[in-house]
Amino acid sequence: MTTATKPAKETRQPRQLPPPNSDFYDVYETLSAEELAIVKQVRGFLESKVAPIITKYWADDAFPFELLPAFKELNIGGLGMQGYGCRGGSLALLGFVVMEMARIDPSIATFFGVHDGLAMGSIYIDGSEEQKQKWLPPMARMEKIGCFGLTEPLVGSGTAGGLTTTAKREGDTWILNGQKKWIGNSTWCDVSIIWARDLADNQVKGFIVENKTTPGFSVEKIQNKIALKVVQNGQITLKDCRIPEANRLQADTSFRDTARVLRMTRYLVAWEATGCQMGAYEHAVKYAQERMQFGKPIGSFQLVQELLAKMLANIVACQCMLARSVQLETEGKLTDAQAAIVKAFCTSKARETVAWAREVLGGNGILVDYNVARFFADAEAIYSYEGTYQMQNLIVGKAITGFSAFV
Ligand SMILES: Cc1cc2nc3c(=O)[nH]c(=O)nc-3n(C[C@H](O)[C@H](O)[C@H](O)COP(=O)(O)OP(=O)(O)OC[C@H]3O[C@@H](n4cnc5c(N)ncnc54)[C@H](O)[C@@H]3O)c2cc1C
Repeated sequence: MTTATKPAKETRQPRQLPPPNSDFYDVYETLSAEELAIVKQVRGFLESKVAPIITKYWADDAFPFELLPAFKELNIGGLGMQGYGCRGGSLALLGFVVMEMARIDPSIATFFGVHDGLAMGSIYIDGSEEQKQKWLPPMARMEKIGCFGLTEPLVGSGTAGGLTTTAKREGDTWILNGQKKWIGNSTWCDVSIIWARDLADNQVKGFIVENKTTPGFSVEKIQNKIALKVVQNGQITLKDCRIPEANRLQADTSFRDTARVLRMTRYLVAWEATGCQMGAYEHAVKYAQERMQFGKPIGSFQLVQELLAKMLANIVACQCMLARSVQLETEGKLTDAQAAIVKAFCTSKARETVAWAREVLGGNGILVDYNVARFFADAEAIYSYEGTYQMQNLIVGKAITGFSAFV
């Protein structure tokens, strides 16, 4: 006679749910091991230092100066730029780092993009050898922070032809007069790149202005923004500011040279827009896995899953478009229209994705404490700055048809 052994009582393990993953197509695998290590280092900084405090700063409309020492230690000033004390590395690395920043907070990515891309980029692309030697090393070390002043209160999309800020040459000095609006970092930075129309030849020229010590330079903080609230945007007034010829960007002779900077930075905004989607998506997935309704996680409902799937498809599309864009940029082949289409596409998809993320959170989607609201609001600014959606599409439209629809 055999004694049958009773089966052990089944104990149910809690289900292991997949962690939110916004790299569904493994685009990070396109980086080298060395580059990936740098991206991971930046991610560590963002997750441990930025994420815990950023919502409070966003709600308070304030910049987290307490983060600057750790930011400097990251040693990422001048990523993608070679020489002059810059960190160097590939343009892909720069793109992924900006995307990582935006994944945690689009304001931090914008602060970095303005300093590193727009301000340092202007000197790197349009400065003389001497100017690069003088200005880029302290900016790469983030001892001096920069801003970029192109937009004016009355001239936004039409800056190519209509700048009202003027530059008048008197011997070896230029006299600048006018106003600039929306200028990120300008309320506290050290170096302002100011674009003005030369009264002699009517061409746009760039100037490196030491704003803290130049008489006639003043800035007023723009209040009551609903997006990118951590970035301090200012309205600059230049009243008879005297700038030495040595501070005029020597390789810049017209708006065409300004546009070379914008081509590089507007494609960087596409990386930001993609990171913004990744952040919102990851928060939404986590929420959907945890939030219970009708006795079940909302992530188990088909309609919620559809929203998440659509968000992920947007992210994948943007990441793959960027992966090809960066190849073209690295080969020096990215055209204005290609930079414009990737900016237009990724920022418009960002608006869609963050709105769906907000929807997944229901009412909590409009509370900044749940993070998604921050991405939701920030996507609006990213969609419009560095050339609006319409302006990007006009650039693309001209490349498609051969007709310029600019008025
Ligand atoms: C948060 C934030 C940060 C910024 N940071 C900076 C910065 O650091 N430095 C800087 O120089 N600028 C900065 N900007 C300015 C930004 O680049 C401009 O807001 C942008 O270029 C649009 O200009 P605008 O706001 O004057 O809009 P407008 O040019 O007045 O446009 C208003 C609307 O009209 C549309 N429109 C205009 N012309 C046409 C046309 N020909 N055909 C069809 N539609 C048209 C536009 O697409 C838009 O929808 C920032 C803006 C924001 C919101």
